[in-house]
Amino acid sequence: MTTDWQNWSGSQKHAALELAFPESELAVADLIQRAAGAGRNVRGIGSAHSFVPFWTDDYLVSLDNMAGLISHDAAARQVTVWAGTKLHQLGEPLWNLGLAMENMGDIDRQSVAGAISTGTHGTGATLQNISSQVVGLRLVKANGAIVDIDRSTDADLLRAAQVSMGTLGVITQVTLQAVPAYHLHERNWQASVAECAEAREDLIANNRHWEFFWDPQTDQCAMKTLNATAAHSLDSPLQGQNIGRSYRVIPSSREFKFNEIEFSVPAAAGWECFLALRHLIQTDFDDVRWPLEYRTLKADDIFLSSANDRDSVTISAHQGAKQPYKAFFSAVENLFREYDGRPHWGKIHTQQASQLEVSMPQFNRFREIRQSMDPQGLFLNPFLKTVFGVD
Ligand SMILES: Cc1cc2nc3c(=O)[nH]c(=O)nc-3n(C[C@H](O)[C@H](O)[C@H](O)COP(=O)(O)OP(=O)(O)OC[C@H]3O[C@@H](n4cnc5c(N)ncnc54)[C@H](O)[C@@H]3O)c2cc1C
Repeated sequence: MTTDWQNWSGSQKHAALELAFPESELAVADLIQRAAGAGRNVRGIGSAHSFVPFWTDDYLVSLDNMAGLISHDAAARQVTVWAGTKLHQLGEPLWNLGLAMENMGDIDRQSVAGAISTGTHGTGATLQNISSQVVGLRLVKANGAIVDIDRSTDADLLRAAQVSMGTLGVITQVTLQAVPAYHLHERNWQASVAECAEAREDLIANNRHWEFFWDPQTDQCAMKTLNATAAHSLDSPLQGQNIGRSYRVIPSSREFKFNEIEFSVPAAAGWECFLALRHLIQTDFDDVRWPLEYRTLKADDIFLSSANDRDSVTISAHQGAKQPYKAFFSAVENLFREYDGRPHWGKIHTQQASQLEVSMPQFNRFREIRQSMDPQGLFLNPFLKTVFGVD
């Protein structure tokens, strides 16, 4: 008896031997030991919003039943949450403590464990990815041991675990560094590519968040800025503007399903890379109707972060979930490679260990840690074996 299952976009489908919803860390450890005993693989699953083949027909572990706030350190502004908590379940409880996440991505449907495991990020040149908000976590290892990891116990292990695609163990708890609760003022407007080019340096420097979506059909940029404000709402309605709590303003809803590729490139190369992608679409893929998204991301020190040791621009391309994407994404990926691009781990890419050890300075350090944490490869699958160069 197997459980049929698919990811958000429908690009990944599995018939899993077992899709488990444990309610305790001991139950997670028990499942891991059972799988190891049976010579099967175990993969964590959050909201299944990733586009790549992260999963397995063996054992899937969802922490949907391990969600919510566990504890709160008011002085340090830190909260410990169950790793299965969805980001949209965090906003209100944090707000009630006078806190908020420093930044979020385009949506809030991901689980905490899933979001951090792929280096999920939002936009803002002074803001790092969500994994950077992690100051500690607990995971269940391949041998069933439950371990706490933070900077003081093992800084390198934390840097590895902060973005680890489920390959070090099943993460059960995460301690996040929050910031004081804040409201955001959102402004949206349309600009031509020339206007965007002229304004972009100022927009990056003078706004907490700036991003744009370039529409290949109109050749226009849908620009958006977000800035902290003391106001709690607009005095009167203004077109394209909104003020509200950060956790309500940052995320959007995505009604239509798509597949996506995204790479980070050095910040200084971002605009040139965008222009090259625009040219590629206009010349070779003029049937593409989905936009390019352009965002900024501050450098960090997490081993597998796409912004490891470099301020970055992230650019993503999309294609409708039911439309063929391989030729388009392959051309996009080749172009990203010309700009020293690094993949978003949750989005479609074909990068392999031999390429990643060149583009990611700490890739081999991560591989050593992964090997020592899970020598038998319990938490790997064929896709991840290719990524990490494991036979
Ligand atoms: C509509 C949409 C919008 C998006 N917007 C953004 C965005 O703005 N910014 C951005 O950076 N990305 C974005 N993404 C990508 C998305 O944030 C990532 O793919 C993220 O990892 C999904 O989280 P999830 O909870 O669905 O995790 P999943 O996709 O289920 O899993 C992701 C990884 O985490 C691992 N994992 C899950 N739970 C555990 C656990 N308990 N322990 C150990 N490992 C675990 C999985 O094995 C897998 O390797 C978007 C995706 C979609 C579909």
